Amino acid sequence: MRPQDILMPVAAGLCCKPGGFHIDPVRPVERAVITHGHSDHARPGHGAVLATQETLDMMRLRYGDNFAGSTQAIAYGEEIRLGDVKVKFHPAGHVLGSAQIAVSCKDTCIVASGDYKDAPDPTCAPFEVVPCDVFITEATFGLPVFRHGDAADEVKKLLASVALFPERAHLVGAYSLGKAQRLIALLRAAGYDAPIYLHGAMEKITHYYQSRGISLGELRAVKGVKKADLAGTITLAPPSATSDVWTRRFPDPVTAFASGWMRVRARARQRGVELPLVISDHADWDGLTATIDATGAGEIWVTHGQEDALVHWCKVKGLAARPLDLVGYGDEDEGETPAAEDSEA
Ligand SMILES: [Zn+2]
Ligand SMILES: [Zn+2]
Repeated sequence: MRPQDILMPVAAGLCCKPGGFHIDPVRPVERAVITHGHSDHARPGHGAVLATQETLDMMRLRYGDNFAGSTQAIAYGEEIRLGDVKVKFHPAGHVLGSAQIAVSCKDTCIVASGDYKDAPDPTCAPFEVVPCDVFITEATFGLPVFRHGDAADEVKKLLASVALFPERAHLVGAYSLGKAQRLIALLRAAGYDAPIYLHGAMEKITHYYQSRGISLGELRAVKGVKKADLAGTITLAPPSATSDVWTRRFPDPVTAFASGWMRVRARARQRGVELPLVISDHADWDGLTATIDATGAGEIWVTHGQEDALVHWCKVKGLAARPLDLVGYGDEDEGETPAAEDSEA
């Protein structure tokens, strides 16, 4: 069977005709199979949703109980038949509950990896290489200039700054779903055991992580805390809040931002970020290319991000490759559009 007869890009997203479903649809569809909870992948209003329990819970937290007509949870490693295809979920290492979706029909296997990273993350299951015929990869950081380095080193930079400026508050911009919790876990792993303060928009999802057994130490709401008491502390906030009047409640804040984009100095400057931290929940150039290699796939479909360089790299390697030109994935996690909850106080 030709791969394009199994999965095909259409306006609503990636359509699997023989299975009767769409993967991460950007418009309401009858049956959606969803890779992870970021708002550009997991949208409300579908008839039926198949996803991991964590992704379903995150959708419920964000959109309320009626976010879909019906839901079905699937575990990593579990296989389900949908129409004429079989689907199996594998960890994507991106955020809690994130999955790659393997779609098999007869003797052809296509893996839609959603967003993924191959770097270690204490807050989610590690990325798994899934051998396949066609690998669908993201390309958020699909340029050789993007090399994220070790996130633990970036956290050391933050802690060094906290030690250097005990009279100032440290305000760290981090996306609410995934990045914030990973940063907290990395701070704890680095031995930081003081309470960490949270912007109101992060409380619900962070407490959800804790309820799933991710230990994050003592967390406090920053709301209502006296300005002077925030000297020497670390507060996590959605990126948009760090350039807001909201920051006036902090004593002489050092503004940091945790994102893969912080590799680009101009971006940090443009956002007024004093302390850029290169921490990403997406694979960097080396991660993308190593993963493509490891899957053994002969054909690569490249989507949302910087497709061209990665497509070119594949072709030089003798792999069939093409951009998918899917529209509507703004990347809540590290893109330009702030998440809906960012605007919350
Ligand atoms: Zn994502
Ligand atoms: Zn994405």
